[in-house]
Amino acid sequence: EPMQEPGSHGDRIFVSVRLRPLSEKETARNDVSDWECINDSTVIYRNNLSVSERSMYPTAYTFDRVFGTDCSTTRVYEEGAKKVALSVVSGINSSIFAYGQTSSGKTYTMSGITEYTVTDIYDYIEKHKEREFHLKFSAMEIYNESVRDLLSADTTPLRLLDDPERGTIVEKLTEATLRDWDHFKELLSVCEDQRQIGETALNEASSRSHQILRLVIESSAREFLGYDKSSSLAAVVNFVDLAGSERASQTLSAGTRLKEGCHINRSLLTLGTQGKKWACSLPRFKLTRILQSSLGGNARTAIICTMSPAHSHVEQSRNTLLFASCAK
Ligand code: ADP
Ligand code: MG
Repeated sequence: EPMQEPGSHGDRIFVSVRLRPLSEKETARNDVSDWECINDSTVIYRNNLSVSERSMYPTAYTFDRVFGTDCSTTRVYEEGAKKVALSVVSGINSSIFAYGQTSSGKTYTMSGITEYTVTDIYDYIEKHKEREFHLKFSAMEIYNESVRDLLSADTTPLRLLDDPERGTIVEKLTEATLRDWDHFKELLSVCEDQRQIGETALNEASSRSHQILRLVIESSAREFLGYDKSSSLAAVVNFVDLAGSERASQTLSAGTRLKEGCHINRSLLTLGTQGKKWACSLPRFKLTRILQSSLGGNARTAIICTMSPAHSHVEQSRNTLLFASCAK
């Protein structure tokens, strides 16, 4: 059976599930692993379901790809994100999402994927001397519908502006022109510092905020005889580390959070396959507004749903699998 390539066959959302290993803490309290990947696309619940549970929950869940506890992030990148992420060099917008409960491995997975992508983009640039590339990097965090620049020490919330041509713009967001790989690594550490400063100031964990790292890639044929201006390309790749998915079900009183959580579940990730009309009818949460212009049209999307295998997290894991099934 040929493996489905992420982003191929007009199939614009590639959904995978990654199971992290039991943590030391989970092992220490004798927690057990509930889930097992039995092949490349199926994860099963390996405990016995009670009779009443059997009518409510499936035993097996199938996705484009599943990654078991022994899979490296390199493999998750290669088989679950690379194709989608690298379509950006051909002028196609793409987004990679990490979805899952807090401590399921979103940041662990997404930071690896981001770095592998940028490495591959620089490799590509190295091999395509006939074109000239410009990379611009920006980073933001959305917390409680407030957008913050992660490349700036200024913590003033940023405003969103609707531009008829370009869509939603984050006003005053720092856009750094990348010089090289080392510069990219420097900026990542600036982001990390800013994120931690924000966390301390707000006395809140990162679990409640979305983080978007964005790379804009522009390229054009180098000037030579017969230079064709129409060969210019520009596209965006977003790396989205979503807020912990448990929030929607746990903080029932927090109206915005709940609505936003459900909204992410139902609508955000289908944007890529729907036309603009649908996108316009969505609730105007800042996350969707910011991503809207890069999710429409022929954009590609990969969603990596991360989960803990621990029995103590079974409810959240089922929610994650349900979400993953709906995202397709
Ligand atoms: P989240 O961002 O979803 O809250 P993290 O990425 O911070 O979760 O992961 C929680 C902890 O589990 C971290 O200590 C991280 O290093 C570890 N971890 C996550 N995924 C894996 C994995 N696949 N293999 C080994 N350790 C992992
Ligand atoms: Mg995280």
